[in-house]
Parts: sequence; structure tokens; C-alpha cells
Amino acid sequence: MKQEWLEGHHARKRFGQNFLHDKHWIERIVRGIDPKPGDALVEIGPGQAAITRYVIAAAGHETAVEIDRDLAAFLRTQFTEEELSLIEEDALKLDWTAVLPEKRLRIIGNLPYNISSPLLFELMKAADRVIDQHFMLQKEVVDRMVAEPGSKTYGRLSVMLQYRYRMHKLFDVPPGAFVPPPKVTSSIVRMIPKAVDTLLPVDFEAFSTVVALAFQQRRKTIRNGLSTVMTAEMIEAAGVNPGARAETLPVESFVALANVMAEAKKAEAL
Ligand code: SAM
Repeated sequence: MKQEWLEGHHARKRFGQNFLHDKHWIERIVRGIDPKPGDALVEIGPGQAAITRYVIAAAGHETAVEIDRDLAAFLRTQFTEEELSLIEEDALKLDWTAVLPEKRLRIIGNLPYNISSPLLFELMKAADRVIDQHFMLQKEVVDRMVAEPGSKTYGRLSVMLQYRYRMHKLFDVPPGAFVPPPKVTSSIVRMIPKAVDTLLPVDFEAFSTVVALAFQQRRKTIRNGLSTVMTAEMIEAAGVNPGARAETLPVESFVALANVMAEAKKAEAL
């Protein structure tokens, strides 16, 4: 496949630009995504179309969100409107619930690392319409996403995302696959939203608060971490040992804690 590049484009740091240049890795990533005709593929940050070309060749069409106007103009020279629907916007500001509202999405992207966590949280709002997400992120971030309770990397990102998605790390990608090479190793992660009727019922705001407070200081016990919002008795009522550390608790425990907290708040308001 012919590879074309935007001559003279200097990678913009503020947009987290590291472009994939290595055919071996690009093909491996696209095999991991497995795009098929009819899939509603949405790519965040197509850049110079390293992945885009293969996806369009396989699926026939892609929708893409690109913030860099020069790259957007370049992309329009590479594909027809039938092949590429381009949204020139900041993916962080996009209302994801309104993107192809009739379709079930397959979202992909070699994500700009500087916005990856907030973007993952934004995308959660559309998770009930998503088939799967394949992202390239810093290895360290992917390790946190898929970490299990008790591991050093288990934290807020693990709990919040594991509540909503099943996640699987596919493989690492070395810095040499990019131009310019990033300072760190990257990884590909597959995220599959859990079916809505299998999600544990929880007040999501309370859940976010509990998880954020619990991991604010990792070494603290859950009793100390949550002392501003819950008593030890309330923690016990959620079936959690107040002396436990947040990093040892499974997602279900945070859900139980959030539900006890939300109930207490409701009772207070009566
Ligand atoms: N997909 C290309 C590749 O693999 O070579 C480019 C990847 S590069 C790491 C990240 C891309 O995301 C760039 O094209 C950049 O301009 C774009 N980008 C950065 N911030 C963005 C944002 N907030 N919204 C949409 N695109 C963004």
C-alpha cells in the first residue's frame, strides 16, 4: 500500500503528535482492530492516516476526529467524502453521545497521550452505544487500566474503567515505530463495554467521589481516605473492612461504598 506523508509537517507537541511510520506495527495494530465492511469506525486523531489508510481499505469508510487543521486539510486530499467523514474538532469537547447516533461505534485511535485519561472518561458517556475501543496509549497507562486489585498499578483509572469495560492489553509497541519517537513504550488496549443490564447499579457521582477520595493517598486505610464522607460504621455496612487499603479492594467494594454513601445522603436530605 502506498504511504504518503505531509511533507514539511513538524510534529506538534501540544497535540501529542507522534506518527506511526513502521508498516509492521501499523499492520499488526490494524489486525488487532479487525475492521470490516459496515463497521461504524470512528478514529480519534488520524494524523497522517497511518492507520486510517488500512482501515478504509478494509472497511470502505471511516469517521475521524482531528484537531490539527493542517492535517485535516491533508486528509481531505487523501480520501474521498465517501471514504472519510472528517470532524475537525477537539475530541475532548465533542458530544460523543451525538456522534453517529443511530450506529453502534467501533472507536479507535493512537491517542494523544496528554489527553488520554480525560478522553477515556468522556467516552464512557457513550459506552452503551460502543461495540469496542482499540487504543494505543502509554504502556504505563494501559498497565494501570488493566491492573487487578493488590497490584501496585491498581488505582482510580483501573476501578473507574473496569466498572464499565472489560479490558485486555494486546501488545506493546516500541518508541522506534514512531516519528518522532516518544520517550516511552506504548501499548494497545482493547476495551469492550459491559452490557448495561449486567452493570452493578450505582449512583455514578457517588462512585466517582468514593474512588477519587479512596485513592488520593494510596497508603491510607479506607477509613482515613473516606473520613470526610463516611464513618467506619458506614464502611462496615458496605461489607468493607475500614482498615483495608483502597488498592486491595475490588470494583464491587467501591460500588457498595458508593451506594451506602448515596443512601446516607438521601436520608439526610429527607
Ligand atoms: N493516528 C496517527 C498515527 O498513528 O500516526 C496520529 C497519532 S498522534 C499520537 C495523535 C493525533 O491526534 C494527531 O494527529 C493529533 O493532531 C491528534 N489530536 C491531538 N489532540 C487532539 C484532540 N484533542 N482532538 C482530536 N485530535 C487530536
